[in-house]
Amino acid sequence: MNPHGTRQRFHQGCRCESCRNAWNCYQASRARARRRGDWQGLVRTKAARSHIEKLGASNRVIAVAAGVSASVIDRIRTGKKILVRSRDAVLAVRQQDIANAYPLLSAGAFIPADETKRLLADLESAGFNRCELGRKVGLTELRIEKPRVRLWNAKRVERIYRKIGTKAA
Ligand SMILES: [Zn+2]
Repeated sequence: MNPHGTRQRFHQGCRCESCRNAWNCYQASRARARRRGDWQGLVRTKAARSHIEKLGASNRVIAVAAGVSASVIDRIRTGKKILVRSRDAVLAVRQQDIANAYPLLSAGAFIPADETKRLLADLESAGFNRCELGRKVGLTELRIEKPRVRLWNAKRVERIYRKIGTKAA
């Protein structure tokens, strides 16, 4: 059973307020994305390509810094189409993110989820629900229940926290 406040729990039949909110948020974000045409929208992007060339790091490092998979970086380099939200994530990478990605990489593909959970809890207590948080980085939702979290998801949460955490505090 998924926790309350997730669209999965709503799907499992719960109609409590927090599950209804999660469901509505999910539907609304899908509708918004469809209107923007980028729900599964693909683009070929020269901007992202020249951006990663400027960053001058390996695919894996850039992928971790951007919170996308390494194959996305490869697709950019070889001029293939990628998701709009992946392009946006790559364009948002700064040199500092690259520097931060190296120590993370040596920690492997998964890292302990404690810090990610703490950041999410902070944001949630400031009134952001997870669906809304997820939407800000182009995920349909953010569910961190396991003790370990994928690096790129941790990076995504960090990025949102940097962006809105200070405003929320
Ligand atoms: Zn519920």
